[in-house]
Amino acid sequence: MLTLGLTGGIGSGKSAASTVLNELGATIVDADKIAREVVEPGTDGLRRVAEAFGDQVLDSDGSLNRPALAQIVFNDEQARQTLNGIVHPLVRGRSEQIVAAAGDDAIVVHDIPLLAEGTMAPSFHLVLIVATPQEVRLERLSTHRGMDRADALARIKAQATEEQRLAIADVVLDNAGSPQELREQIEQVYADRLTPYADALAAGRSAASRVNARDGAVAREYARLAWALGQLDTTVEQHTGGDAPAIVRGATAEIRSALNRAGWFGDAELAPADPGGVLRVNIVDEPR
Ligand code: ADP
Repeated sequence: MLTLGLTGGIGSGKSAASTVLNELGATIVDADKIAREVVEPGTDGLRRVAEAFGDQVLDSDGSLNRPALAQIVFNDEQARQTLNGIVHPLVRGRSEQIVAAAGDDAIVVHDIPLLAEGTMAPSFHLVLIVATPQEVRLERLSTHRGMDRADALARIKAQATEEQRLAIADVVLDNAGSPQELREQIEQVYADRLTPYADALAAGRSAASRVNARDGAVAREYARLAWALGQLDTTVEQHTGGDAPAIVRGATAEIRSALNRAGWFGDAELAPADPGGVLRVNIVDEPR
């Protein structure tokens, strides 16, 4: 299973990109959307929220009164923890169900608005970002979503900068142009990179085709390796000179399968299943 993180600043067109990826066959895990679904009328989630906070958080039609709930948790850390204690496990469980149903050869896209703000980026095989100039985002947010310009700008300023998002991005989708231009870029990356990568992962082999990687690919791939090996009492030795392979000491089955899951295959020297991957990994069977 190929696992992707998709992000972009507010108004960049992340939802538009996610829709196209879904049409092309990817499974989408949208935590924000799931967080709304698990407290829809009739759900166990909403029943528990109402039990915890009282009928004041329900509208007359029985649906969740979000402003009322927001008011309660806004200044009350304990109330917020209670709410999270109800909603987070439900979101996690539903996300896991969606992923489990997707199958081994699936392409699963995690739609994560604040990916660049956190530390999860290296846990994904690839990170895709939707990049759109700030002025265009402001314009779209005010005309299409009816958002006040000052409010939109404040939200943009509260998020990571475009530079911070670019630093974690393996693939940049430029959404300054038309929706059709966005779609064409996604179709191309889906055909040239995502599908071959997912196929290689499912087959347990390195890439059979090549595409160019963005600048900074080596650093991102080292971060991925470090993530993959983080729990295994081994580290990856970084080579800065030339295109020497990374060195991983320890040829245990556990280390190998962690490297395979992260997208590297082979015997002594492993090569990436990612057609845009640049880093080879040398497994050295000697004590650390
Ligand atoms: P995000 O999910 O990143 O906040 P959306 O996908 O909701 O952004 O896009 C923000 C707004 O801009 C939406 O109303 C959307 O329909 C519109 N939009 C997205 N991409 C384009 C585009 N290429 N051209 C014109 N409008 C767009």
